[in-house]
Amino acid sequence: MVDADEAASLVLEHTPRLGIERVALAHCAGRVLAEDLVATTALPAFPSSAVDGYAVRSADAGKTLRVVGESAAGRPFGGKLAPGSAVRTLTGGVLPDGADCVVMVEEVEEKGDVVTVPATLKPGQNFHQPGADLRAGERVLAAGEQLGAAELGLAAALSFPRLPVFRRPRVALMSTGDELVEVGGKPGRGQIVDSNRWALLAALREAGAEVRGLGIGPDEPDALRKLVVDALREVDVLVTSGGVSVGTHDLVKPLLESLGTVHVGRVKLKPGKPFTFATIPNSTAPHPDPPPGGGGGNRLAFGLPGFPVSSLVTFEVFVRPALRKMQGFARLQRPTLPVRLAYDARATADRTEYQRVTLRREGHELVADTTGSQSSSRLMSLAGAHALVRIPPGDQGVKAGTTVEAMILALP
Ligand code: AMP
Ligand code: MG
Repeated sequence: MVDADEAASLVLEHTPRLGIERVALAHCAGRVLAEDLVATTALPAFPSSAVDGYAVRSADAGKTLRVVGESAAGRPFGGKLAPGSAVRTLTGGVLPDGADCVVMVEEVEEKGDVVTVPATLKPGQNFHQPGADLRAGERVLAAGEQLGAAELGLAAALSFPRLPVFRRPRVALMSTGDELVEVGGKPGRGQIVDSNRWALLAALREAGAEVRGLGIGPDEPDALRKLVVDALREVDVLVTSGGVSVGTHDLVKPLLESLGTVHVGRVKLKPGKPFTFATIPNSTAPHPDPPPGGGGGNRLAFGLPGFPVSSLVTFEVFVRPALRKMQGFARLQRPTLPVRLAYDARATADRTEYQRVTLRREGHELVADTTGSQSSSRLMSLAGAHALVRIPPGDQGVKAGTTVEAMILALP
């Protein structure tokens, strides 16, 4: 039995980064950039008017000037601005050669084809200098950054039609257990509805995975083995729930042992003691078409415990960081924030515990309330939780009023 931090490092140690693909901007949202993005041009590329008004020479301040033409967005003024003249310039229009400032239309007196400009004009006023937003050659985005709206806007402004991003991990997801019935069905006596698959499907997608659902696997060794081996041919990662405890019907751990190497078989973690992590060599289930780059070799297999809270907490602690590493994220872990406990957290003697809390703001502080009974079967302890609070093993616990670092799932 290894402790939680050791198990987490073992997982990351065996997790490869996946290969790179070039993806059209329309499909890049949420993906992780694989190479630094360098500006190929300055932005703006030309002196661009910030207002609607008149481009003039600041030396002509206070004078009445002849309007000699117009510079609108996309329709520059052809000539050069001579002393004593002005060019009507609209927002986004090119500042004509010879002009060194723009006067807002609200500040001039217009009469026929002449305008009178204010007595003081500052060179450089009301237009954007070329390169003011971005210089050519400047690094605009770093490898490892996630692409969101602003990042994609920036890439588009620099006219990159596609971007190099890391491949998303392909994950096969299976629930195991003869007691399980499909959601929508009616459980008979002793049966329960498979809820883990739907919870884990959402968690996997949120973490950026492409998920292949394998349904419910039986507590029968040969059938389970065939399902798993067939699935492994097409994915980078296998995630199962159930069947990793020590009962005679718990078949996932022995199966993973026979297919590859089990690196973590039990963890000093609550909830989630039976968490199992294995790597499975390519030779066990050869990929007919190994994907380019990393990930074509070993597959990762995560045997999550069956109890719903255990499966989601072990997903958070072990699987999510691994999926983020595969996708090239610079930051693998959830952000943490200091929170003040509003309750006495009792410790478990030999295991690190992740307790589920809701947060509320009190002045400048975040205060953590327990979500109630922390039973590993009680999904209500996780539904609506804002954070996980880590309680170290021992007999001390953490007293109410103590400030601890909490792993933030959502802010209130
Ligand atoms: P196991 O680790 O297979 O012994 O599972 C432990 C317990 O977790 C079972 O007795 C069920 O109560 C619960 N469980 C297992 N799989 C699921 C599932 N897919 N959905 C909801 N609960 C489950
Ligand atoms: Mg079971």
